[in-house]
Amino acid sequence: MSTCQLCEQHDDTGSQLCPGCTKGTRVRLEALPVLYRGLGALLAPAGGVGQGRSGKGGPAPLPVSLDVLDIRGPGGMAALLESWVDAVRHERGRPEPAHTGSPEGRVERACGELLGHMPWIAVSWPEAGEFAGEIRELARSVASMLRTPEPERGTRVGHCQAVDASGTICASVLWLAPGEQVVRCRWCGMCWPPATWTQLKAWIDESAIRGEKGVQRRDVASTTR
Ligand SMILES: [Zn+2]
Ligand SMILES: [Zn+2]
Repeated sequence: MSTCQLCEQHDDTGSQLCPGCTKGTRVRLEALPVLYRGLGALLAPAGGVGQGRSGKGGPAPLPVSLDVLDIRGPGGMAALLESWVDAVRHERGRPEPAHTGSPEGRVERACGELLGHMPWIAVSWPEAGEFAGEIRELARSVASMLRTPEPERGTRVGHCQAVDASGTICASVLWLAPGEQVVRCRWCGMCWPPATWTQLKAWIDESAIRGEKGVQRRDVASTTR
């Protein structure tokens, strides 16, 4: 008989983390690099993709928060994740090469390495609860920075069907802002002018039927303006 270190519920497996908290932690580690890139989009100049400065000035610029700059900087999310990577490496007697490269690459590698250690962390690491709690807090605070304020949202269109270089569908929720003629993805910056809406709708329906995202599909960059 034992207790999960994160949710503090009884857990029959005798591990440090129960199966639910283990899965939750894995999902958060997978999501963090994506959330991190989403924060980058918040820092991009408004209107950089799409309508530019024509018309009524385009969408209102999103407020650039100092929190966002902090977490995107070299001492932010990357350093926090790497401190956990170092702790695990040390505990497991693994080599400890330095963390180098861009903050974005470092976040990706740290999450990948931590995911690789998850089976051991969940079963054996006495610090698993503290680790999982901090990962949960990090994912929560970044997600809250990305949340669009309610009044500006407008009409919910569906999930963005833009495909990135790796062939993964963006799948963020698209909103047609009040008074706007173009649906602009707040996440990836993809613009969906009215001429693309029929196709967009077809893709949204198609992926809803498949009930999945992250599938490979042909490039749709030609619909960007
Ligand atoms: Zn739990
Ligand atoms: Zn998108």
